[in-house]
Amino acid sequence: MKSKITSLSDLNTLHDYDPNAISVEQARAFIRQFLTPITGQETVPLHTAWQRTLASDVISPIHVPPHDYSAMDGYAMRVVELAQAGVQLKIIGKSYAGHAFEGTVAAGECVRIMTGALIPAGCDSVVMQEHVTAAGDVITLNKNVRASQNIRRAGEDIQQGARILVHGQVIHAAEMGVLASLGLSEVQVYRKLKVAIFSTGDELQQPGTPLLAGQIYDSNRFALMGLLAGLSLEIIDLGNIRDDKAILKQAMLDAAQQADVIITSGGVSVGEADYIKQLLAEIGEVVFWKIAMKPGRPLAYGKIRTNGKIGSSHFFGLPGNPVAVMVTFQQFVRDALLILMGQQPKPTFTLQARCSSPIKKIPGRTEFQRGIVSQTANGEWTVQTTGEQGSGILSSMSKANCFIVLPVALGDVAVGTMVEVQFI
Ligand code: AMP
Ligand code: MG
Repeated sequence: MKSKITSLSDLNTLHDYDPNAISVEQARAFIRQFLTPITGQETVPLHTAWQRTLASDVISPIHVPPHDYSAMDGYAMRVVELAQAGVQLKIIGKSYAGHAFEGTVAAGECVRIMTGALIPAGCDSVVMQEHVTAAGDVITLNKNVRASQNIRRAGEDIQQGARILVHGQVIHAAEMGVLASLGLSEVQVYRKLKVAIFSTGDELQQPGTPLLAGQIYDSNRFALMGLLAGLSLEIIDLGNIRDDKAILKQAMLDAAQQADVIITSGGVSVGEADYIKQLLAEIGEVVFWKIAMKPGRPLAYGKIRTNGKIGSSHFFGLPGNPVAVMVTFQQFVRDALLILMGQQPKPTFTLQARCSSPIKKIPGRTEFQRGIVSQTANGEWTVQTTGEQGSGILSSMSKANCFIVLPVALGDVAVGTMVEVQFI
């Protein structure tokens, strides 16, 4: 077996190469053409805004901080030429956080001040308490004091009128804090994307119920729920649908009525009870259904027709094998969902690592092997596979912390080869 493909005729002679399968990159590009972000918006209370997508820019209505504050516990004073070591100042009052000093401070005077307290009128510097000697109501400076020392200036974090967050930005912890610092209790976000999920297969049993002969547990739906959980969208769980063409068709139509996106698993290959692709062609359109990748082929992407027209529901018919479900979700579905939610997905973080276990691979498809990547004492990244790589070995996903991405043309990988690693 050749390990490098140099021409199309090479490809066609390769065992296991399917000329109708499209590449991973083509599949991504195909999907992208159909993705128009949702337009619906809503205003939500700030405390519920985590992971939501901003539907408009945020302009700061105030300076943050709003006034000048002390950054230290010490003494607020006026810096005149006298602010040198040895100078004595009279304490005329105190300014605590939330309790300002009302008067004005003149040269030769100072105010006891705490971190977060308002700088009294007339003062332009704060000397740390560690840098003075206090006796009664008099302090002696132990060091020279410069103007503007230890003062947090109004607007030094955020200026009033600044565009501080932008449309499409995701509200993470820092953004929640920033929005609160502006005094905003509500935020304008895109409505939640509605994602319907269901499994297919007569062999599937639900966890918590004893298995009958020939049954396996429906793991895909739960793995999918986990994959979707961090995305702040609405999951419509439609359970498991039997391998019955009429029931499946109705389930797909019902899902299309309620959801922006439908994600199913199983029933998408060419077995006698695999109806998904056929039905998608009947009630919508199939954009593609075979990708030159492992695991993950076949995968159907298309749209479902509602009210006689090709509607806005995107349909991802993921493979049945549990690892394939997780891999295809991460490679195709996740970014598609983010785009639909109004976000701009970040490129996946990858790095080059030295392979410490040999890998068997047939050229002609991209492989996503499950790997464990770590850094050696000298800072080099090394990766090994999790072992058995069958697309039904779901425990490999739980052991792995990365995918080892092996490009189409590559064949077997020898120990020591540098490979691309994608963090999960
Ligand atoms: P299929 O594409 O429907 O033929 O499924 C391929 C393989 O994945 C079969 O061995 C199925 O039993 C298995 N499978 C399908 N759906 C699930 C599921 N929800 N959970 C676990 N395994 C599944
Ligand atoms: Mg099936």
